[in-house]
Amino acid sequence: MKFETRLVQFDPCPGDPHRPSATPIYQTSTFEIREGGAYDYTRSGNPTRTVLEAQLAHLEGGRRALCFASGMAAISAVARFVQPGERIVAGLDLYGGTSRLLSQVLPVRVEHVDTTDLAAVERALGRGARLMIVETPSNPLMRISDLRALVALCHRYETRLAVDNSLLSPWGQRPLEFGVDVVIHSATKHLAGHGDVTGGVVIGNDEAFLERVAFVRNAEGTALAPFESWLLLRGLQTLSIRQERACATACTVARMFQDHPAVERVFHPSLERHAGHALHHEQASSAGSVISVALRSREGVDALLTQARLFTTTVSFGSVHSSVSEPVSMSHASAPKRLRSLLPHHLVRLSIGLEDPDDLIEDLTRALDSVAVTAGQT
Ligand SMILES: *Cc1c(COP(=O)(O)O)cnc(C)c1O
Repeated sequence: MKFETRLVQFDPCPGDPHRPSATPIYQTSTFEIREGGAYDYTRSGNPTRTVLEAQLAHLEGGRRALCFASGMAAISAVARFVQPGERIVAGLDLYGGTSRLLSQVLPVRVEHVDTTDLAAVERALGRGARLMIVETPSNPLMRISDLRALVALCHRYETRLAVDNSLLSPWGQRPLEFGVDVVIHSATKHLAGHGDVTGGVVIGNDEAFLERVAFVRNAEGTALAPFESWLLLRGLQTLSIRQERACATACTVARMFQDHPAVERVFHPSLERHAGHALHHEQASSAGSVISVALRSREGVDALLTQARLFTTTVSFGSVHSSVSEPVSMSHASAPKRLRSLLPHHLVRLSIGLEDPDDLIEDLTRALDSVAVTAGQT
């Protein structure tokens, strides 16, 4: 079955004699203990969550998925297998919260490397690392890392490779198919898709490792609650149709930005001049619906933040509504100094939603045109 069919064709409630057509919310903390009973306590297991996990594993092409209360909880549970003092190699423009977790909370050593530079990756792995965490495209600079090459290097140095696939979702990219060990998502973004759930997921093929992650989740109490699981399952069913629309609009918006005089540079893998454009399309089927734009002036930033009426200023991405943010002061405020110094001045990140593409273009052009006119006058 194709991806789109699998999104909606699944058993919503295995073993239920009433055969409901939608998965019920098992809003209970305990289950009567019985011989052969699969559940006892919702922190450890819940049928609504089980259906969601089976779906996510299937869609991402993994054997098992584990859902968490947030993307950060998912990343944290994966990183727990790294012992105190051992090393993690992490991408450079990683989500700010991930960098903060690795450097300020977990008792591990972290080395940030530019994962588009394979020689630098090899040097870092050569110093010994238990885990490598990568985002491709990275966020907000949309830098593309070579998944096949990273898999080969990590396996040579016996380092587990985790890819945070939040930006594209399994609709756009499936890193496990390239041999990546673990995929992580902030399900808060495209998977849930409606800006109303916080969640995370870990997916992989190594049963022993996932059993260990499940153990950590149960011990720390970070599993996704039944109602959130249900919301996520509901949102997930329209993933492909949402993504198709949002990504197509994003490509149009990226080209509009590229041609606008108020814009210095556009970061979106759909653009032929984007570094890694060809590589990206070898390993992904979509350029995604998030675009970063470096404006020529502070006025340009302010115009997008305050004058684009259809773009609410919020962190996050992947919702049905379009939004705009300034990474330096918002999503990446907690990122290491070295990364923040890499970000161009006047950088804005947009998440494209499901509004009419013409309305979005008109809204953005009107905001940007006000800047170009002012600049021309002074
Ligand atoms: C949002 C995000 C996270 C964190 O997920 P939460 O659900 O907010 O905890 C991690 N990685 C990436 C790439 C994200 O965009």
